[in-house]
Amino acid sequence: MLSKKKYVLPFTMWLIFESIAVTLWLTKDNLFYLFNFSYIGTSITLGILLFLHNYKYARRIVQLLVGLYMLIYLGLICNENMQIEGFWYYLFTGVFEAATIHYAVAKIFGPLIFGRGWCGYACWTAMVLDFLPYKEPLQPRKKIGYIRYIMFVASFILVASLFLCHISNLEKIIFWIFLIGNILYYVIGITLAFVFQDNRAFCKYICPITVFLKPMSYFSLIRITCDKDKCISCGKCKRVCPMNVDVTDNSRNRENGTECILCMECVKNCPKDAL
Ligand code: SF4
Ligand code: SF4
Ligand code: SF4
Repeated sequence: MLSKKKYVLPFTMWLIFESIAVTLWLTKDNLFYLFNFSYIGTSITLGILLFLHNYKYARRIVQLLVGLYMLIYLGLICNENMQIEGFWYYLFTGVFEAATIHYAVAKIFGPLIFGRGWCGYACWTAMVLDFLPYKEPLQPRKKIGYIRYIMFVASFILVASLFLCHISNLEKIIFWIFLIGNILYYVIGITLAFVFQDNRAFCKYICPITVFLKPMSYFSLIRITCDKDKCISCGKCKRVCPMNVDVTDNSRNRENGTECILCMECVKNCPKDAL
């Protein structure tokens, strides 16, 4: 039987999302926000509960519930560009709507609480990459993470130049950028996963969103820590970590510390329950 204490985390998570849902619904007088954040919060809470009951595919279920909802419903049906180009676009137009709010909650301020939980449980790119065969990276990490900064600047320049050139039908173009961008991300992500024998190669080297996620998640409230009295330094946690985090080091400066996606693989695999 699980102690009541274990239910604090899922309940807190649900409460955080529900507070965001109700606040945005009332302040923006739009029922969509109540539905949107309640749906996401409930999906994440369900995943945590399944994890606590040792269900093997708990995280995958959340990834599919949230990732497909965002990609198909918000992206393809509602034409909301949740890619980084969409964020720049809505920022330039001064519209504080779904995409900007999504970035503020999931990728800019939210990581102060739940780190890169977005990357572990909600991202529709990683939702597909995590089905590939290299769950544990088979090659050491490459020193090419600078590409993400180039991608970040390139996405900004692309959208800024569309504005500066006064292109008409901008909304339509941004939707097409969303479609083509997603296809490209999947193609590059899958190719890199096989080349580097690492499902998360795209996240480590290419994804421009990490430029927001990494510095904010440094301060994350929720993080995996190691009980040094129990740890026998077997190295299993580092081997199974898809993001090469040195989780046995409790300092915030630990190796690849801002890469943790809270996937819990280290926790599940630690033979001494030290994490
Ligand atoms: S790093 Fe980028 S692609 Fe990877 S999970 Fe996070 S947001 Fe998605
Ligand atoms: S798997 Fe557990 S016991 Fe082994 S090094 Fe990691 S924390 Fe320590
Ligand atoms: S295996 Fe552990 S340290 Fe690595 S990303 Fe997952 S939760 Fe973080």
